[in-house]
Amino acid sequence: MSVAPSEDGPRAAVELSFRGAPLASAEAQRALLDRVVLPPAFASATFDGMVGGVTTGRLRVLQVNLGKTCNMTCAHCHVDAGPHRREQMDDATIAHVITAMDRLRPAVVDLTGGAPELHPRFQELVVEARSRGIEVIDRCNLTILLVPRFRALPTWLAEHGVTIVASLPHYRSRNTDAQRGDGTFTASIEALRRLNDVGYGAGRPDRQLHLMTNPAGAFLAPDQAATEVVWKRVLLDTYGVRFDRLLALNNMPIARFLEWLDGRGGTAAYLAHLVERFNPGAAGGLMCRDTLSVGYDGATYACDFNQMLELPVEDDGRTLNIDDPSVWAEGRSVRTGRHCFGCTAGAGSSCAGATG
Ligand code: SF4
Ligand code: SF4
Repeated sequence: MSVAPSEDGPRAAVELSFRGAPLASAEAQRALLDRVVLPPAFASATFDGMVGGVTTGRLRVLQVNLGKTCNMTCAHCHVDAGPHRREQMDDATIAHVITAMDRLRPAVVDLTGGAPELHPRFQELVVEARSRGIEVIDRCNLTILLVPRFRALPTWLAEHGVTIVASLPHYRSRNTDAQRGDGTFTASIEALRRLNDVGYGAGRPDRQLHLMTNPAGAFLAPDQAATEVVWKRVLLDTYGVRFDRLLALNNMPIARFLEWLDGRGGTAAYLAHLVERFNPGAAGGLMCRDTLSVGYDGATYACDFNQMLELPVEDDGRTLNIDDPSVWAEGRSVRTGRHCFGCTAGAGSSCAGATG
């Protein structure tokens, strides 16, 4: 059930925007996906047509992208985040997000980036959400916890009952280092040990530690439940590390992963693979039905993927910001595109793992 290490899989790469790469533009990414000729059986298929349209239900998750700055440059990063990115949420937008917690009453505030911990008001947002009884997720890249100024962060997160969702592509160092940079695996294990030391990964509801795995190439995520069993055994036996849940995600054909696909002439084949492995059972669990994603500039999106492709939530052609009273409406149509097939392929894929 493990993902075989891929010798020719994507490698950690400097940000597209820093290199001035053509696919740094969201418009260029969308155009590339739209140009692809799908297999004959799906030649005129659209995502909306195959799922019967996607509409919003009741809001559950307010996902806040605090910015694009990150200490890493992972190959699969759909944010095109990295150390050269400077975009960060400003104080006015932070204030709107806090107000939105009261207005929208989400069950979960999901803090992401970039590395969300790098935002100077990260801890303040955690406190604001927790004081309202809202569950908080920190989408943590693990290596950030080894940066000296964040050494006390695991204890602080534990004391505030923050759920940690941490990226770890694979339990083999070769595979993880290839995707995320040399030394990442060793650093990640050290960070996981520190989290275990403060009570994470032992089954406590207020110290949940989830790991996120993604494939090392142009194939789908493995079976989540079966893989979790293997991962738990290997990480405990080999490294003495415990975690609570494994989330298996498909790679989305966006940003750096899309550049890698395109560079090897593999975009059409990957999209065809996603479409051919369409799973109608995964469509019901699409995260865009109950999630509102906020960009660093306050613009809102159905999900983090639409955010990176610059497909904002609109009402009568007007882009809705987080401070707009009508930012969430049940029954609103979700903007979809060909990238969405990544969410319904195989067992389905979302920020919470498999959906099917
Ligand atoms: S740690 Fe996350 S945000 Fe940072 S480069 Fe990697 S995938 Fe992107
Ligand atoms: S990419 Fe976003 S909008 Fe498209 S199906 Fe997935 S969650 Fe929904």
